[in-house]
This record gives sequence, structure tokens and C-alpha cells, in this order.
Amino acid sequence: MPAAIPGIHHVTAIGSDPGRNLAFYTETLGLRLVKRSVNQDDVSVYHLFYADHEGSPGTSMTFFPYAGARPGRVGTGQVATTQFLIPDGSVDYWTDRLAEEGVDHDEPRERFGDAVVPLRDPDGLPLELVARSDAPEGNPPKGPVPAEHAIRGFFGVTLSLTSADPTANLLKTMGYDRTGSERDRRRYEADGDLGSVVDLVERPQGPPGQPGAGTVHHVAFQVTEETQSEWRDVLIEQGLRPTEVIDRKWFKSVYVRTPGGVLFEFATKEPGYTVDEELDALGERLVLPEWLEDRRDEIEAGLPALST
Ligand code: ZN
Repeated sequence: MPAAIPGIHHVTAIGSDPGRNLAFYTETLGLRLVKRSVNQDDVSVYHLFYADHEGSPGTSMTFFPYAGARPGRVGTGQVATTQFLIPDGSVDYWTDRLAEEGVDHDEPRERFGDAVVPLRDPDGLPLELVARSDAPEGNPPKGPVPAEHAIRGFFGVTLSLTSADPTANLLKTMGYDRTGSERDRRRYEADGDLGSVVDLVERPQGPPGQPGAGTVHHVAFQVTEETQSEWRDVLIEQGLRPTEVIDRKWFKSVYVRTPGGVLFEFATKEPGYTVDEELDALGERLVLPEWLEDRRDEIEAGLPALST
């Protein structure tokens, strides 16, 4: 087997209004906009990346905000919930903050011994803040949330599946260990300190997820330049049909539709978000991969205004 996967690289979701999306993830959740680009498969739509200060793997939540997009439905065959990691002394800070900002959220609950705060973003995307004493200090964004309470990156994702076993077997192949179960939830963990958890929840009766605003498009796992093609071979041996390696400029990607219907990506940690911008200037201007640069005028004219 190739070297182990430490956890999530990024999660990509669909939003609607780009300005509202930007305001929620930067001003309310306090993440940093580390990349302002376009969907490489539809350049009329932004691709916005929110992360820690350095855009570290395991911290970036990214969006395709289609203005006026119809809401999707969260259901089976999807990432049902995206979980962020906060320090364990920060639950009261966050529940107060979410209430003050008028964010749709629930009272904290306990899961596997951790406090969990469920919330929804402005498009209804289900998120959770998971409080842990072992949250790494990390590189918190310099924003409205004090560093001591800042989101550290991902804790994990919850996948909703009509049948969990085929996806569980794939996770085991990827080096994940089953570490527990609680009610209808099975937990799998990789050996990393950010985004190392995948929870599986079985929902045999559905309903099936429908893509649209407020749903996750795919979850990406972190690999290296050396191991990516080996992982691709492993997926083929498992009877799956991964894409070729696709250059996304800030990482290289292989996508695969998993047996439970969830789209997985295997993304390299190299070269990272600072390959085309200085660390201090990340996210300030529209950046395009060089193969789109000669269309910049046309692309900029087709994008809605976006201010920070
Ligand atoms: Zn991706």
C-alpha cells in the first residue's frame, strides 16, 4: 500500500450568493479567504477557498457559489455534515457568537465524549463545530475570531449512505481504522491531526441527496506527488474508475465515485496555495491558472462583483 493518508485535504460545496458566502466564512466563522479563483470546469462561477492563515492541507473549505442556485437536498450518497475542529474551552464562545450573528444553530450535544455544535451556513449547508482538548494550535487566521478560539481546520466529515459496508471497506483500504460506534454512527480514523475522522451513517430508506446549494460536492483526501498514482492504481484494483490526474494548479487531483455514491478526490499537498501568491496577499485578487490567463478579461467580465 502507498504511504498512509493523514486525513482530509479539502471539502468542496455548492453555494448560492457569493458575497453572502464570503461574509459567512470569513467574518462569521473567521476563516481566511486564501484563494479567489474560478471553477475550472465553469469559469462563470467563482471558486472560493477558505482556510487557516497559510492555507494548510486539512483546513480548506471551498465553494462554487452559483448566484441564484437552487437549493439541493442533503441525503444519502453525500457528505451529510462537514465538521470543524475547535479547542475544547471554546464551546461557550462559539454558541454566544453564533447567537449574536443570527446563525441557524442548535444547542451543543455530546458525541463520542466530545461537545458538538451543529449549525447551518446561509445556504443551509450542515456544519458542526467539534470541541477537542487535543486540537492543535495550528496557524489560526488573523481575523475577527481570537486565535485561542479559532477554528483549527477540519475535524472530519459524516457520510450518509444507504449501505455503509462498501464505503467502510474502501476506507480500510485507504488506511482508516474503525475506532468506535455510537447509535447509528460508525467512526473511522486516519493517523493525522486535522480532518482525520470519517463517520458513516447508514440510512437504508434515504432520501437520496440531490446536488444544489447547501450540499457538498466532494471530499478530498490528502496524498503526495509520490503516492497519488499508487493510490489511483489501488482504486482501479478495487474495481473503481478514477479519473486521470488533473492539474488544479494548487494541487493535482484524482476523482473517483465511491460505491456509496460519494465523490472522493485524492489531492496532493503540493504545491499549495502559495505557489502563485505571496502568503500575505493570499485571496486578494482573482487568480487564474496560466492556461486560463489569456481569457482573464472575458472571465472577469462574467463574474459578479465580490468585496471583502
Ligand atoms: Zn476538490
